[in-house]
Amino acid sequence: MFGIKGKQKDSGFEVKKIRKDFPILSRKIYGKPLVYFDNGATTQKPQVVIDIINELHAKENSNVHRGVHYLSGHLTGMYEVARNTIQAFLNAKENHEIIFTSGVTASINLVAFSFGEAYVHEGDEVIISEMEHHSNLVPWQLMCERKGAHLRVIPFNEKGELLLDEFKKLLNEKTKIVSVTHVSNSLGTVNPIKEIIDIAHAHNVPVMIDGAQAIQHEKIDVQELDCDFYAFSGHKVYGPTGIGVLYGKEKWLNDMPPYLGGGDMIDRVTIEKTTYNELPFKFEAGTPNYIGAVGLGKAIDYLLGVGFDEIRAREKKLLDYATEKLSKIEGLKIYGTADHKVATFSFLLDDISPYDVGVLLDQMGIAVRTGHHCTQPLWDHYGTEGSARASLVFYNTFEEIDYFCEGIEKIKKMFS
Ligand code: PLP
Repeated sequence: MFGIKGKQKDSGFEVKKIRKDFPILSRKIYGKPLVYFDNGATTQKPQVVIDIINELHAKENSNVHRGVHYLSGHLTGMYEVARNTIQAFLNAKENHEIIFTSGVTASINLVAFSFGEAYVHEGDEVIISEMEHHSNLVPWQLMCERKGAHLRVIPFNEKGELLLDEFKKLLNEKTKIVSVTHVSNSLGTVNPIKEIIDIAHAHNVPVMIDGAQAIQHEKIDVQELDCDFYAFSGHKVYGPTGIGVLYGKEKWLNDMPPYLGGGDMIDRVTIEKTTYNELPFKFEAGTPNYIGAVGLGKAIDYLLGVGFDEIRAREKKLLDYATEKLSKIEGLKIYGTADHKVATFSFLLDDISPYDVGVLLDQMGIAVRTGHHCTQPLWDHYGTEGSARASLVFYNTFEEIDYFCEGIEKIKKMFS
């Protein structure tokens, strides 16, 4: 059904072929073709990722780093190859600057705890922004409470763009770290992180970037950005759940104390004292999600095969097309109209509850997310409790956007 008319708009991007790589995209919901517009929450998996996970569980499974036997050695090798894949993907200088975690939330908690222990003292300040996901807010709040430090917040304008002049005013000698999102999950805003990093570095303040909503849309070069930490989750970049990455500059990671204690992160343990393993293992306590890491490496290889230039170009077309169509729907208000944004549309329709909108769209086979999207302070800014959110990626189609807009018109009629 989807992807035929859209060919003219795509000029060369073979969306029909791409969609076949993702088995779930051809399933039906209530007898209707699935329109999956909830990619901000999680992305679907290509067959190559599904296959490698199944195959490893069926034929190769063994715990890594601890065995002398064939299977353990083999999977350890694959786990470390996955680390090298991520290193190359992010253009990190060293492969031990890539720490496998369970996801962005775990990565940020690691830095908030560990960096906090090493560098933050009473009266110090941490800067975040008003549009942060709770995962890039609560860990810093917890750390500030523990250390007697204070959170400072960069505000945004009505379009959903960070106010950099306000950011500059917040920086001072008490600022210990800045942590901001690359792309807002609720508004779609792409923040000027290079500028933010340069401004913070001019004050000798390190910067952590929450890349949860950026990594699937554009190629990240951590050396070019010069960020101090960058975090992302596998499941949002077409990889498995339960695996994620923390990139950190070696100098910070070496100085920061371990976050979790247990297996793999130790060098020598006595009852009196433990010395710690070298990077990256110092931050990888316990059995890692080694099959997830290999699956993530596969997802990255798949994306590089599609090509980030192609992904960006197609998603821009979907963004422009959907923006134009949605802005013609009377009574529909889009939250997040930044000049630089991804194809994420938070919206309210007249005074209809976003939950009702979500439930009715679901009846039509359209999956959107409703609620506060884990950004309650952002919605406090707008004086509302949340929105319905459609988040699109390269495998979505123009026909799906048409169908979605027709669905919204139908809902309007039902309530009028
Ligand atoms: N940060 C942002 C911007 C997000 O969108 C999300 C998830 O939606 C997270 C952090 C948390 O990601 P995870 O639940 O994979 O740890």
